[in-house]
Amino acid sequence: MRPKIAAGNWKMNGTAASLAELHSLATGLPENPPQVVICPPSTLLFRATDATHGSPIQIGAQDCHTEGAGAYTGDISATMVADSGATHVILGHSERRDAYGETDADVAAKAQAAWDAGLTAIICIGESEADRSAGTTLDVIAQQLAGSLPDGCTGENTVVAYEPIWAIGTGKIPTLEQIVEVHDFIRATLAERFGTDVSDALRLLYGGSVKPDNAAEIFKVDNVDGALIGGASLTPADFVPILQALSAT
Ligand code: PEP
Repeated sequence: MRPKIAAGNWKMNGTAASLAELHSLATGLPENPPQVVICPPSTLLFRATDATHGSPIQIGAQDCHTEGAGAYTGDISATMVADSGATHVILGHSERRDAYGETDADVAAKAQAAWDAGLTAIICIGESEADRSAGTTLDVIAQQLAGSLPDGCTGENTVVAYEPIWAIGTGKIPTLEQIVEVHDFIRATLAERFGTDVSDALRLLYGGSVKPDNAAEIFKVDNVDGALIGGASLTPADFVPILQALSAT
């Protein structure tokens, strides 16, 4: 049995006042909570790890550089993320692939840097609406998996998040059949490349418009081990019911 995991991506939202949300989340967690990772903006990483100290909530960053240090204005390294007490880092989110032109090779290099710093990489993949309409979803997923996951992937150092781009922040979600198809395909592709021991251990998250009213049915899908959640992770009022649905599966 793979431990369930819910990761919250705060994106560019949150100031010091938002740390209060972490306190409420910590006190509102369901009994037997899944693994919970909150990824605030980098300005809050140190304070977020302090604020959640002693609670089961873990903290992650939303990106990191491939290098440990150097002349990279505006970037943060995986070493710096780990220095903050964070344990995870989201890599290859479609917003970064789109806005910053991040390629699969960039994502793989960042994942290697994250592992070297002792972080778990949450690697995002997912097709666009055009890919889905063209019937190339599984080709795109195969290509992203092959290019974004370095050799040496394990169930401890990596979590894979399947996030159809057209479902992120739109309120649209794929049908359960579409989620089953892609998650089964990801698991089989990982097994071919890394062997079944590794692929059986790797957690696969679904991401894209997960809300309290659709979480339970998504979490019933066999190869869905949790979710990457954007908007609904910003307040415990939305996030806690999702955690409850996950811990009930
Ligand atoms: C995300 O940005 O990773 C995401 C899944 O966002 P939302 O839940 O808001 O669709």
